[in-house]
This record gives sequence, structure tokens and C-alpha cells, in this order.
Amino acid sequence: MKTKKIVLPDSELPRQWYNIVADMPNRPLPMLHPGTKEPVSKELMNRIFVEELVDQEFSTERWIDIPERVQDIYRIWRCTPLVRATELEKALGLSDGVKIYFKNESVSPAGSHKPNSAVPQAYYAAKQGLHRMTTETGGGQWGSAMSMAAEMFGLDLRVYMVKVSYNQKPYRKLMMNTWGADVFASPSDTTDAGRAALAADPNDGGSLGTAISEAVEMVLKNEDARYCLGSVMNHVSMHQTIIGEEVLRQFEMVGDYPDVVIGCFGGGSNFGGIAYPFLRENLTKGRKTRLIAAEPTSCPKLTRGEFQYDFGDLAGLTPLIPMYTLGHDFHPADIHAGGLRYHGAGTVASQLLRDGLFEAVDIDQVESLAAGVLFAKTEGIIPAPESTHAIRAAILEAERAMEEGVSKTIVFNLSGHGMIDLYAYELYLSGSLKNIALSDAEIAKTTSTLEKLIR
Ligand SMILES: *Cc1c(COP(=O)(O)O)cnc(C)c1O
Repeated sequence: MKTKKIVLPDSELPRQWYNIVADMPNRPLPMLHPGTKEPVSKELMNRIFVEELVDQEFSTERWIDIPERVQDIYRIWRCTPLVRATELEKALGLSDGVKIYFKNESVSPAGSHKPNSAVPQAYYAAKQGLHRMTTETGGGQWGSAMSMAAEMFGLDLRVYMVKVSYNQKPYRKLMMNTWGADVFASPSDTTDAGRAALAADPNDGGSLGTAISEAVEMVLKNEDARYCLGSVMNHVSMHQTIIGEEVLRQFEMVGDYPDVVIGCFGGGSNFGGIAYPFLRENLTKGRKTRLIAAEPTSCPKLTRGEFQYDFGDLAGLTPLIPMYTLGHDFHPADIHAGGLRYHGAGTVASQLLRDGLFEAVDIDQVESLAAGVLFAKTEGIIPAPESTHAIRAAILEAERAMEEGVSKTIVFNLSGHGMIDLYAYELYLSGSLKNIALSDAEIAKTTSTLEKLIR
């Protein structure tokens, strides 16, 4: 009988997160203060972020201990299963040597990988004696994970949710409310930034840029509050390495090892989470696993963006970040995979890509949703629209192996389920989902305005 599901006992769960910075051939360039163009100081970061998270952001230590309390909460849903996708393999007609596994992060209480970072972020905030956190959310996945985590550590959480998404996704908002968070449609009348946006246009549907401005303004006006982020930053990807560390041990249990590791790519946290432990094995033990980031064709920062300093938000309030970017005022089409609609990649992922240590592919949305439907019909789980990009990339790798007549072990990260995002499937099933072509001229419009600090 083929192995179907591999789960580690509690006693075998990883007790440390892995920091890829320790093993990078070239360390990432520093973030810069937009005014002085000097590297940003820890002091400035500490006023906005939780101190221990800032320390982790700047850390070059290889291993960071996972606090006992965080391990306790992880155990509610971890170890997440590594599953051999035998039913999908059958539907694809794969030969015995071509294997597909998936790591099922959809089993977390919030339905995605995001609680892996939300829980430690709330833990460190409470440890610092803080009482209030603010954050923003686009699609709502980060907002819901953070709402759960904040409640577990007795923190008040205020979530600024992009207004269009607040109106489109009432169930996401209700999840956040159930966990006790206050959710505001952004632009809101609770901040100067929100009021200014509303004065300019009372029907403003909001943007991630405005929501970030509101969340950061709240923090600057409240000494006991801090702001938190669900992707892009190195400390977030580091927390997510719990995924890949488990996968390494799970493969060891069945005596297999992946030739290809795949994750979808928004800000890079679930991709880094599954891929960086395998990249360490490549860098330190001469393994040759290929690591593939799957991004949407309509938001192709890795495959068509420029490596340059850029702001993390639309409004230009964050430090300048060295990254592959489409330009901070690039406006991605509404592609129904909200978590992948971000203009830039994190600094660590960007440097690794620049050094050729992983590959990036772009995936069209119709093909990705079709792969999602095939996955639902075979393995049963309805995947998050974001995750369907990884599924499509895995299928392409399996088909290539069949054509070449070679054996291949493929694993992809199922970053979440799609039960709250069924409208994407509605569009696909009704035939109204279309692929979006992006011309070079369109991309140049927003990348050409970047100040060329990297030559
Ligand atoms: C947020 C999210 C993503 C994209 O974010 P990363 O930081 O790149 O991982 C992907 N999948 C799901 C289900 C998400 O919630």
C-alpha cells in the first residue's frame, strides 16, 4: 500500500525556527530611511513593531527557539499532515516514479498558514506588556489569523480591512469579530488618513496602502500599541519555516526526499516557510532540490519585476525596501487570489532570487483555478485561490517528468483552503474568469518611476 498521510508525533515537532539569513551567500541589502537614505535604525522600528520581532528581523542567528507557550498553541493543529496526492496522481495518469505530495496548512483554525506567524507575534507583544495591536488586511486571511492569536494573549486588536473586501467578504469579518477583534472598513473616520481619503472621495473603496496608513497612524498616536504584518518581513518567513522543518522530518519518516519544492508567492512567507529548510540542505549538504515560487501572471514581480529600492505600501510611508518590485503604485487586477496581489517580494527572497537560488514561474488564473477544481475533485479539499497556483505548478512539473521519462518527487504547500473564497470558484465555474495579459509597457509605467538607488 502506498503511504497516504504522514504526521509527526508531538515529541518530534521542531522546537526552533530556521533563519536562512545565517546561510545566505550574500546577505540582503539594508532597508533605508526614505529621507536620509541611511539604513533604518532598530529604535525607529521599535516604535512601530514589537521589539522582539525587530530583533528577529535583524538577526543573523541560524536557529531561534520557539517559546514553550507558542509550541503549546501550535500543537492545537500541528503537525500538519504531509499527504501523498495519490488520487490526483491517478487522475493525471502518472507513473509510479512521479510522485506528488502536499503539505496541508489548511487545517489550522483560521484555514491557512498565517497563524504560524500570528501566534508568536501576539505572544511577543503580550510579553512586552503591550495591550493593543493594529494591522491591516486585504483579503482577510491575515486579519482573521491575527484576531485569533490576539485573543489568545489578551490583546485588543484593531483591523483595518480594505473596504471593497469588507463588503465582499462578510464571513471573514465575522470570523474576526467572533475572535473578538474590532474591524474597520478602510478608509474609516477613525484616523486622519482615513478622513482625508473620505473627504477626497466619500465612495473610496480603499486600498492596502490606505489601510496600512491608518493602522500605522493608530500606533503612532497610542504609546501602548504596535503594528504587525503577515508577510514580506523576514521574521514572518522565519516563523513559517515550521512548515518546511516538519516536511523534512516527515520525508525522513518514509525514506523519501523531494526533487522539487513548490509554494505560491504573495509576499513570500509560505514559500519561504516550506522552501528555506530545503535551501539550507542545498547550501550546506550539497542537495540539489529545485525550489519553485508560483506567482500569478497578473502580478509578476519575481518573473518581470525590477530589483530596486521601493516602498512597501502605496502611500510611501514604509522604509525603502530592496526587492523585486513592480513599483509601489502598480495596481494589480482583481484576480481573486487576494493574498498574491502584492507589488513586491521580501528582501530575503529577493536577494535569494537575484543569486539564482530558487526559480519563479508565473501561472494564469484560469489554469490555476482549473487545477484547484481538479484537486478538489480528487483529494477532496477545496484549495484557497492562492494555493491553486502551487497546485498548477506541481502538475506542470509532474507532466514534464512524464514526458522526459524520469522519476521525480514533488511537494507543494497547500497554504490554505478556499471555503471563504468560493466566489472565485463561482466565477470560474460560470466561465466568467479570464486570463489577464500584462504588456511590458504597462509594467514599465510603474517601474520606471522608481528612484534607481541600485545600479
Ligand atoms: C496570505 C496568503 C498567501 C500569500 O502570502 P505569502 O506571504 O506569500 O505566503 C498564500 N496563500 C494563502 C492561503 C494566504 O492566506
